[in-house]
Amino acid sequence: KVNNGFPYSNGAIKPHFTPSLNSFINLDQGDPEVFAPYWRKKSEECTVVIKGSDLMSYMSDMTNVCWFMLPELRDAIRRLHHVVGNASAGMDKHIVVGTGSTQLFQAALFALSRSSDPSNHNPINVVAAAPYYSEYQDEVEVLRSGLYRWGGDARVYDKNEEYIEVVTAPNNPCGSIRRAVAMARSEGDELGKLIHDFAYYWPQYTPITEEYDHDVMLFTFSKCTGHAGSRIGWAIVKDIEVARKMTRFIQMSSIGVSKESQIRVAKIIGVICDSYQKIGSSLQSDDLFFEHSKRMLRERWDKLRAVVDKSNIFSLDKYPKNYCNFTRQNSETYPAFAWIKCCGAIEDCESYLRSLKVYSRGGKRFGVDGKYARVSLLCRDEVFNEFLTRISNARLQV
Ligand code: PMP
Repeated sequence: KVNNGFPYSNGAIKPHFTPSLNSFINLDQGDPEVFAPYWRKKSEECTVVIKGSDLMSYMSDMTNVCWFMLPELRDAIRRLHHVVGNASAGMDKHIVVGTGSTQLFQAALFALSRSSDPSNHNPINVVAAAPYYSEYQDEVEVLRSGLYRWGGDARVYDKNEEYIEVVTAPNNPCGSIRRAVAMARSEGDELGKLIHDFAYYWPQYTPITEEYDHDVMLFTFSKCTGHAGSRIGWAIVKDIEVARKMTRFIQMSSIGVSKESQIRVAKIIGVICDSYQKIGSSLQSDDLFFEHSKRMLRERWDKLRAVVDKSNIFSLDKYPKNYCNFTRQNSETYPAFAWIKCCGAIEDCESYLRSLKVYSRGGKRFGVDGKYARVSLLCRDEVFNEFLTRISNARLQV
């Protein structure tokens, strides 16, 4: 069957079906189902009521650069960053809301791709250090834009031309914490601009080691809480002109962002922040979203490592421990994806996993070799457990 890029379209099991021996399990996409049981417990608290006459206008706040963003969402985003301490989002920063950070990535490319030299009409090169998030290249190339083009692996980029480097930290697919590499090599030259994609810079995935303050920082609600279906992302932008151009791009592509989604996200962020302000009263730590979801991910990583340690086929990298300013504990990174390497004899990890009826995404999509494959760890419990069973039963005959 053709895989058109949507979950479950390739014959894999559908939500709420228990995997049987013959069904494929789809760990290709990072659909964040692991957080659903937590939100099921919080259903009532997070309910929003929207009346027939509510939210009808295109406009939200015409005094703000991002005029379609509801003030309650803007305030909730600032409050969340203040509580978590992962990014500086004070009043001196501009927040632009988007339909997922996917739209904001493209808006940022649009805003940053104008050359400082008006006589230069060449498309600007977009680079990222391999292994890089597979969608960047597709999103850059899909429209064959005259403004920007894919420039490949930032580590080997050596053109004396303007470029935009995307820095993903923690990185998708491999979970490492990254800094700009092309810019570092050229010692902060005038040619490079940066987009920081912080989709996974939340306490359940990695220790919060610093409050970042970069020019353009992208966040997504999809990975923060798991509400991917609301399609809300936001950018924190220093330069008002960049924020204006990003807003203009979103106006051109969708005249704003669903207000139903904005209201829902503002409500859920409010529930999270309120719960942290109540710590020490009646709440148990497992009632707190980031503590709860970190425990879920840590348990999955512990189980996965135990299986991989016994395997003569698969291996995984180790992550360094760091002090987390948010949880005030030392902890490891627990990435949303496992970046699995197959041993010597197996050249194509994705195909090997497919022979175990597991869909994954092979290393080549991320700009590296096929010995690696990315496997989502954000699936439901039954699917995760079935995945462990399948890889623990696999042994190479020696
Ligand atoms: N950046 C990274 C690194 C991601 O992994 C994802 C989602 N897989 C996105 C951006 C896009 O997220 P969304 O469009 O759902 O906000």
